[in-house]
Amino acid sequence: MKIITHQDFLRPYTRDPAAAPGRLEPILEELKKDGYEFIEALPAGWDDIAKAHTKDHIDRVTRHGLYAISALAAGGAIQAAEIGLTEPTFAVIRPPGHHASSDSSWGFCFFNNIAIAIEFLKQSGRIQTAHILDFDLHYGDGTVNILGSKGYVTIHNPEGSTREMYLKSIRSQLWNVTPDVIAVSAGFDNHVQDWGGLLTTEDYYEIGKMIFTRAKELGAGTFAVLEGGYNHDVLGINVRAFVQGLCGRDFNLR
Ligand SMILES: [Zn+2]
Repeated sequence: MKIITHQDFLRPYTRDPAAAPGRLEPILEELKKDGYEFIEALPAGWDDIAKAHTKDHIDRVTRHGLYAISALAAGGAIQAAEIGLTEPTFAVIRPPGHHASSDSSWGFCFFNNIAIAIEFLKQSGRIQTAHILDFDLHYGDGTVNILGSKGYVTIHNPEGSTREMYLKSIRSQLWNVTPDVIAVSAGFDNHVQDWGGLLTTEDYYEIGKMIFTRAKELGAGTFAVLEGGYNHDVLGINVRAFVQGLCGRDFNLR
């Protein structure tokens, strides 16, 4: 299991909840307890970003002074995607990306990290097909905008008014597809102590474990990138629980 991140992500880059000070530190602290290997993120190239976004959009992000940090997040996602073909990988990055469409963005997102990473894998011939699971509280409209009509990608934003239904929705979809890679938009804002109020910390472990199990069964790669998650008191343990599942470990938060 590898963790992709960078010191620059710790610095607030704008005034929104995803950029808030102190948001990523607890995640990194929790993940360090499990002894994963940390790899420093490298920025994505302009050409990689342009696989998912118009020149106009990239120029707008640049004018707002957000190109460097957004390109670094996208680059971290690309690294996670590449390494994820060999072993499960998680990218602790921000800004998040799933509300970034080809020519616009909102919801604390600027470049669509997961879409850029998936297009990188596809266009470099490393994969033929992909499945994206987006378990953030919010619908990943940007990812659907960029990849929804591509034909080689299935995208699932699970629904369910109870925890049980939500987990069941993920399971049935995972076992209904046969992709070369399972990519995950991992947002933790649907936790019982976050905005959505639905899932427990152990549920995030279960989701990770389902992805691990299915990927292993298929011989598929798997990687995840951080999206939302805003309660700093629980974000770290939620990510840790998910990552333990994603790499097939036992659930253990001690
Ligand atoms: Zn969200």
